[in-house]
Amino acid sequence: MSKLIYRSFSVSPTLALDTKVKELQAQGLEVINLSLGEPDFATPDKIKLAAIKAIKNGYTHYTPTAGIKQLREAIARKLAKENHLNYRPSEIVVCVGSKQALFHAFFVLSRPGDEVLLATPTWNTYVEQIKIVGAKPVFIPLKPPFKLKAAQVAKKISSKTKVLLLNSPANPTGAVIDRSELKKIAQLAVRNNLSVISDEIYEKLVYSGQFFSIASLNEKIKQRTVTINGFSKSFAMTGWRVGFAAGPTKIIEAMIALQSQTTSNTSSISQWAALSALDNNDQSVEKMKTEFKKRKDFVIAELSKIKEISFSPPEGAFYVFVHLEKDLKKDYPSSEKWCQELLAKKKVAVVPGEAFFCPGFFRLSFASSLKVLNEGLSRLKDFLSENLKH
Ligand code: PLP
Repeated sequence: MSKLIYRSFSVSPTLALDTKVKELQAQGLEVINLSLGEPDFATPDKIKLAAIKAIKNGYTHYTPTAGIKQLREAIARKLAKENHLNYRPSEIVVCVGSKQALFHAFFVLSRPGDEVLLATPTWNTYVEQIKIVGAKPVFIPLKPPFKLKAAQVAKKISSKTKVLLLNSPANPTGAVIDRSELKKIAQLAVRNNLSVISDEIYEKLVYSGQFFSIASLNEKIKQRTVTINGFSKSFAMTGWRVGFAAGPTKIIEAMIALQSQTTSNTSSISQWAALSALDNNDQSVEKMKTEFKKRKDFVIAELSKIKEISFSPPEGAFYVFVHLEKDLKKDYPSSEKWCQELLAKKKVAVVPGEAFFCPGFFRLSFASSLKVLNEGLSRLKDFLSENLKH
């Protein structure tokens, strides 16, 4: 029999770890999961009710590929009000999560062999998506506190560079790019004829420093930027799968055409829910943010007491990226092995730095309750002090 030929791809390491945690939990083990990239809050009630109403009203069919007009108009209003970005609804496409928006943006903006610049540590999905579309990811390696500087970008630009990916606040470091650097990065992009994809999914979760959309700096950079955002993180809507991209008409038209041949629209019901999220949920966003800040402060205070590790306090998002300074050399040769041992011995899940192209670290998510965080951190401390004795 002839062999089946097929293409294979790497599974998202965070999703793979989550599957493992769920397996252990199904065996009745009490696993503390600090690996999650999603808020533990319930989607606010008003949003849920809007979805129920959409079903009752019969909004259960295909919508325009780019999304319902009302939602695109609401996104345009949000971008104008919160991000100082003026887009017509026709310059916006609603996608199946921001993940799909990113994939379509990479697909449209790069060709096989083109180079896409991105800073590491970075979210694994960017790298895989860039490879899937045939382009080449080129890393800009950052050191703590992981704040991207224009000079670092400049060093990596080649004649093949076509796209610069920005993610601020960043996953997994929580770092926010300073406005002064954003301005210089924008100048570089214009001068070198680069497209910019700006993933702004954590924009609402900024605790210190200030968030700016690069496209809002001036018209020249706006003309070459695709701004990506979504509802998953800000509104605790990960399962609803709504994200969007805003950018120059021709690029957005190409993304819509691509989407028309892949998924068509995202769920009609989710779109009505997302509309209600934008219309009247400022308070729930603020409440979640206040809670995240409390958790961040708690986690930072507790981690600061541990001398075997170091970290830069995150300015945004809901992760701390922790350096395993002293512990690695002793018992575990890699952060991946270290994280496996932590899970095996103490039933605490965190994501190893290898998943973010930055070995020697782990990512701890504080998108869990204070009680869960407290238990997780105390198990982590036990693990470290047991390692010291070996
Ligand atoms: N961008 C970043 C930086 C993320 O961390 C994630 C999810 O973890 C996403 C995008 C994807 O979010 P969505 O649920 O909108 O696809």
